Amino acid sequence: MSLKRRDFLLSGGAAAAFTVSQLTSSDSASAQALRPPAKWQHTADVVVIGSGATGLPAAIVAREAGASVILVEAEKDIGGHAITSGGNVPLGGGTSVQRKYGIKDSPDLLFRDLTDWSVVEPNGFPDYRYNDREIIRAFADSSAATFEWLLAHGVIFVDKAPDDFGGTSVGNSVPREMHSAAMDWPMVQTGKPADAMIRKMLSSGNGLMRPLEAAAKKGGVRILLEHRMTAIYRESPTSGRVIGIAVDNKGKKLDIRARKSVIIATGGSTGNVNFRRMFDPRLTEEYCGLAGMPWSNQNASGELSGLAIGAALWGLYNQTGEFGSNLTKPGTIGCQYNYVNLKWIPGSPVFDRARASGLSVANWQDLIMVNMLGQRFYDETGGQFTANDYHSIKDYVQGSYLNAKNRKYNPNNFINAALAGIGDGRNGGGPIWAIFDADAIIREKWDPHAPNVDIKAGFFFSADTLGDLAEAIQMQYQRVPMPRANLERTVARYNSFVDSGVDEDFGKPKPLHKIEKPPFYAAWATPVVHDTRAGLRINAKCQVVDWTGNVIPGLYCGGESAGGFSQHGLARAVCQGYIAGTNAAGTATQRGNAG
Ligand SMILES: Cc1cc2nc3c(=O)[nH]c(=O)nc-3n(C[C@H](O)[C@H](O)[C@H](O)COP(=O)(O)OP(=O)(O)OC[C@H]3O[C@@H](n4cnc5c(N)ncnc54)[C@H](O)[C@@H]3O)c2cc1C
Repeated sequence: MSLKRRDFLLSGGAAAAFTVSQLTSSDSASAQALRPPAKWQHTADVVVIGSGATGLPAAIVAREAGASVILVEAEKDIGGHAITSGGNVPLGGGTSVQRKYGIKDSPDLLFRDLTDWSVVEPNGFPDYRYNDREIIRAFADSSAATFEWLLAHGVIFVDKAPDDFGGTSVGNSVPREMHSAAMDWPMVQTGKPADAMIRKMLSSGNGLMRPLEAAAKKGGVRILLEHRMTAIYRESPTSGRVIGIAVDNKGKKLDIRARKSVIIATGGSTGNVNFRRMFDPRLTEEYCGLAGMPWSNQNASGELSGLAIGAALWGLYNQTGEFGSNLTKPGTIGCQYNYVNLKWIPGSPVFDRARASGLSVANWQDLIMVNMLGQRFYDETGGQFTANDYHSIKDYVQGSYLNAKNRKYNPNNFINAALAGIGDGRNGGGPIWAIFDADAIIREKWDPHAPNVDIKAGFFFSADTLGDLAEAIQMQYQRVPMPRANLERTVARYNSFVDSGVDEDFGKPKPLHKIEKPPFYAAWATPVVHDTRAGLRINAKCQVVDWTGNVIPGLYCGGESAGGFSQHGLARAVCQGYIAGTNAAGTATQRGNAG
């Protein structure tokens, strides 16, 4: 992806021209405010952009409130990241299932949990401290209702008590996690339904999104696939009501009129290199294995088109990313899309784009990780950012400074070590390679061929000597050649640690296996970018707010494209979709200040 020149032109007056030229890849939205078209190709009361965890609920709710609804989706199928997700849904505040299992929760408790300043990760990051109180209050008040709404719209949850497994940043007081069951829906990962024995127990985003798709279609939501929103129109470019959107349908430009409202549910910005680098300059192009891709991308199109018509960004501190699963250690190696909980298998409808499944690592003792220069930088068995959740702070007392005092700092962090780079004064850590030998292949029971690994696109290499392996590593993100001698030296030193039983460089607990038997392998193991936790400014009704603090009439947003709420995943997205849909259907003339 080429880096394009950025202009940022802001001129005064009511009809201010606000131009942010291409911040991103070619499939992104126009970041320029456009004049409305003379003619519209489609019309509905409410137009929803994106069919993921926010968009589908928003569309259904708006439709059931009496609005006609068009939902546009950029991809060939619905679901967004949500359908690829683990389906762990932390909605609480007093749901019927919490009550059934005797768990005492309430909107007030949920609110206080998610605004507790004293909760920090083991690296000191405070999950909830910078949450916008207005937005959290709205979530807390609608959380249980959203859960009951999902049940009423065909989502089946695994029949068990809420627990603390899955989604993160959901509060520390009581368990809230429920799991949408895969049931009979074909899994996007494989193209086939889950094994019959486990369908009712397997938590899967399929079990959340396919029932909602069915409910949307049954209820009369018009879903337009392969319709990518490219701009949002106001009455005049940067003032007045929002009145519609422009879309690209396989190269054809169409304009869709929204009589009442437009809802941005485009899923965030972490797939947009320049956008995400506003929060963390280290996140350069090589972090190309975004979780959820290639099913769908998060390319900031909602944010950019919102900014272009005057919307503000919000809660940006939450996007620095050093907590939870925002940035993760890969779960598989040797392929581009290597998020730990998402393995693409031949048969998946997007396998042609995923290209390889990757090798799952059972034991990180079986390999070493090196940077572009062939140097180790970290104890490979070590962890990554952790996450706050119920039970993650033992003896949790809401609002008590002791919650932080009892946290044990863990400096052994793969992400920061990997992103530190090679000391050449440039941003971005470059590719990280897992290096191993023929014996590791046997121990891990790996088959190092396509479609398990992606040799063709340069995410997997092998050679008979370590020097040849270093030389073979050539691909777009390897911006400097790996010196032969470096890799030879690194492996020789590591092998000496296996002899001595002590990793003198990084403290890997008792290095177990030498890397000595050819052939030798290098597999892509670069960190994965995941969540967006900052985006457009919204208020309690999910109305988008502009730079002056005023609501942009007719524009709503929720989920990962909305700011002010540091929580991983589905719960905030589904709940804000529910809130946005409710309000968008009935707010033809609503105006006013945001609080
Ligand atoms: C592998 C994986 C596992 C996860 N597991 C969990 C979990 O177990 N629990 C949990 O709480 N969270 C989980 N998450 C996170 C969760 O899936 C997301 O936070 C959630 O789906 C975000 O919802 P959203 O509506 O904001 O975006 P999405 O669900 O991604 O939906 C956005 C949609 O908008 C579409 N879109 C984008 N731009 C445009 C455009 N310009 N025009 C038209 N359409 C557009 C996209 O194609 C996509 O379909 C997981 C995520 C991943 C990737």
